[in-house]
Amino acid sequence: MPNEQEEVFLSGNEAVAWGAWAAGISFASAYPGTPSTEILETLGTFKDLEAQWAVNEKVAYEAAFGASLAGRRALTACKHVGLNVAMDPLMTTAYSGVNGGLVVVVADDPGMHSSQNEQDTRRVAPYAKVPLLEPSSPSEAYSFIQQAFDISEEFDVPVMLRLTTRISHTKESFRTSSNREPARRELRKDPRKYVMIPAHARPRHTDLEKRLSALRALSERTSLNRMELNDRKIGFITSGVSALYAKEVYPDASFLTLGMTFPFPVDLARAFAREVETLYVIEELEPFLEEKLRQESISVTGKKPSWVCGELSPAAVRDIVEGRDRPPSAGRARRPLLCPGCPHRPAFYSLKKSGVYVTGDIGCYTLGALEPLAALHTQTCMGASIPFFEGAGKMQDGQKVVAVIGDSTFIHTGVSGLISAAYNGAKGVVIIMDNSITAMTGGQQNPATGVTLQGKETKRLSLEKLCAAAGADQVDVIDPFDIDGFRRLLELRLGQDSLSVIITRSPCKMIDRSRGPAAAIDPEKCRKCRQCLLLDCPAIIEGDDGGISVNSSLCVGCGLCRKVCKFGAISPAGGE
Ligand code: SF4
Ligand code: SF4
Repeated sequence: MPNEQEEVFLSGNEAVAWGAWAAGISFASAYPGTPSTEILETLGTFKDLEAQWAVNEKVAYEAAFGASLAGRRALTACKHVGLNVAMDPLMTTAYSGVNGGLVVVVADDPGMHSSQNEQDTRRVAPYAKVPLLEPSSPSEAYSFIQQAFDISEEFDVPVMLRLTTRISHTKESFRTSSNREPARRELRKDPRKYVMIPAHARPRHTDLEKRLSALRALSERTSLNRMELNDRKIGFITSGVSALYAKEVYPDASFLTLGMTFPFPVDLARAFAREVETLYVIEELEPFLEEKLRQESISVTGKKPSWVCGELSPAAVRDIVEGRDRPPSAGRARRPLLCPGCPHRPAFYSLKKSGVYVTGDIGCYTLGALEPLAALHTQTCMGASIPFFEGAGKMQDGQKVVAVIGDSTFIHTGVSGLISAAYNGAKGVVIIMDNSITAMTGGQQNPATGVTLQGKETKRLSLEKLCAAAGADQVDVIDPFDIDGFRRLLELRLGQDSLSVIITRSPCKMIDRSRGPAAAIDPEKCRKCRQCLLLDCPAIIEGDDGGISVNSSLCVGCGLCRKVCKFGAISPAGGE
């Protein structure tokens, strides 16, 4: 709990949480998604507000909106692709407006450190007609989130605060205040505002345009947008982390740093342009600011098209200013791997052997697509695996199709795909890889774990009962480390004319940290057949001479490699 003017050292995500607490929020809801996850994790540590994991971003947004209707300040947070899931309520609540302040924090991921695309959420704000704030540092994130709530209530609109990975995860030292007064308004019954039937929505759209016009005027005068006039030869219009990069390379230049990028402050930008000889726009991803300036006939130098992909850096800013293209990527130094002892590994090993076509989903199990496991053939967005399975399964000739989805993703949007598949008569096998946690984002609770974000025991969702209720003809639960049993079960269910769900249940090794004895390979017995290397366990190493060994400090003793070695060359170190 922050104290009066305490000096703190916070990441951007933590700063958002602390700023929202200081702004008097009472409610926060999110689904975990890197790089936004720590916002709710931090809010969960404040016991004087309700913070909760929702099953997906749409539900999180709607729950936060409900708290706003009740007159409380509320926050929802997500990563960029999560906002796609919440777009439906966002678009309409911009019309209805809010009661208590409502802020949606969106963390974009330029460079796709942990995402399937690098969409630029700034495009969404004009589309949804909601104001957009972009802090350039954790301390700005702390103060901007508080202003976001004020703007939301003053202009009766949800406000979007956009972070990027570098702001979310960078830490900064700054002072916080402990003044907190939970904001409270009356819950009002106002169907003309909150029941968006066409007759009510039409005037609310007109009203939204008026509110946007007032927000445009705010953008021209707000201190969120800062003009610094120094050397007038070069001026930069920039926002977010790009402002820091540009200031590092050109500390003597003039800057218009935009903290409120929608509505865009046209007059302010024009005034700045008049002050400098050459005007550059420095921004990550899309030419969002550049296009606006060009629309307004403000002459600027932007970036070459190659810079639309990936993150910027100080070196990149220099390259852009000097008119160079983005240099070719050097690629990742190290490829990602499933952890030693990961329960997804045996399931993928068995699936690869079975030769089925596997439609996959979003989660750490997506790593099963990489060689040598190479057992996953699609991955697009949350919850897509089962609809893909249904469509591909019905339309193929002879190829068996299996869907794979994690426990948390199944609850997120997977279950609706299963309901639809059952309803529409799909046959085949859906595998829920239940590692009993939301693992990819660092181990968050979900309804199937029976524990809330704030650590309370709660009702535990039964995946077995849920699948049966959704229409699965059979639901089996099996330990994926029982590879022979899993293979037999898979063959049995694939041979039946029914819709089956197989739940492979074994806890993630990041939550169940029990270790067995490390594996050891007897070089006398090892035939160098390389079968164990197909498991892609980081602990199993091939030497330059082709010899196979186990790194005992990485091995967690799951015993999987012993099961696949046909020559009995692997045993627990120290004997059985
Ligand atoms: S599976 Fe067994 S025999 Fe084959 S390389 Fe590995 S340890 Fe050696
Ligand atoms: S027992 Fe084998 S498969 Fe399991 S972690 Fe150790 S080396 Fe990897």
